[in-house]
Amino acid sequence: MMRKKIVAGNWKMNLSKDEALTLLKELQANFPSQNQCEIILCPPSIYTELALQNANSFNIGLQNVSDKENGAFTGEISASMIQSMNVEYCIVGHSERRQYFGDTDTIINSKLKQLLKHNITPILCCGELLEEREAGRQNEVVQNQIEKAIVGLSNAEIEKLVIAYEPVWAIGTGKTASTHQAQEMHAFIRSILNSKIGDASNKISILYGGSCKPENAKELFDSPDIDGGLIGGAALNANSFLQIAQSF
Ligand code: PEP
Repeated sequence: MMRKKIVAGNWKMNLSKDEALTLLKELQANFPSQNQCEIILCPPSIYTELALQNANSFNIGLQNVSDKENGAFTGEISASMIQSMNVEYCIVGHSERRQYFGDTDTIINSKLKQLLKHNITPILCCGELLEEREAGRQNEVVQNQIEKAIVGLSNAEIEKLVIAYEPVWAIGTGKTASTHQAQEMHAFIRSILNSKIGDASNKISILYGGSCKPENAKELFDSPDIDGGLIGGAALNANSFLQIAQSF
């Protein structure tokens, strides 16, 4: 079954306004004319308007959303605000949010519900720590993350998710999961989804993240259950990012 190929760039908390503008213009000027995938930029939220204005060939996503609807929650950004900016995607449950900002599975579940309610496609991140993989617990950990994230979602809502498998030991470390390790986990994730929503699981794009770069993207993306990538470091360079986006 055909499903969407996606390459998304997570800029994290990097770049000044001028640097962001330079990167956006470079990306826009070099937008691939023969493009086999959807390309999403996730700049820091303060640059959303800048991205919408200067890189309009790309889809834009945010890196995080509040689990609350609206109101007295200083510093937070709601799903309805994201929707009102015509932003279509939002990353949820990135390991850095889980690790440093207390995003628990329950909070991630609420964030997913907020996004889906406001018609924003969540890019749900999951992935095990190094010690969990070393103990052979990676499947159990990822299954638990996904099952808790989707509690209370309808089948139609689950179908709308994009999943990113990001082994924490591969994020920003230069250590990529082997194609075999990644494919094995992606197939496992699809089997979890299959047990919830049946064949519709074949429509869900599952992205790989963790030190993905032009040198390893093609081999990874050639695997049957790897539908693209979530890119951190390499997304801060227009050439590298666009090269990755053309690795199908
Ligand atoms: C990420 O944090 O989503 C990521 C994949 O980072 P990097 O590509 O830098 O490992």
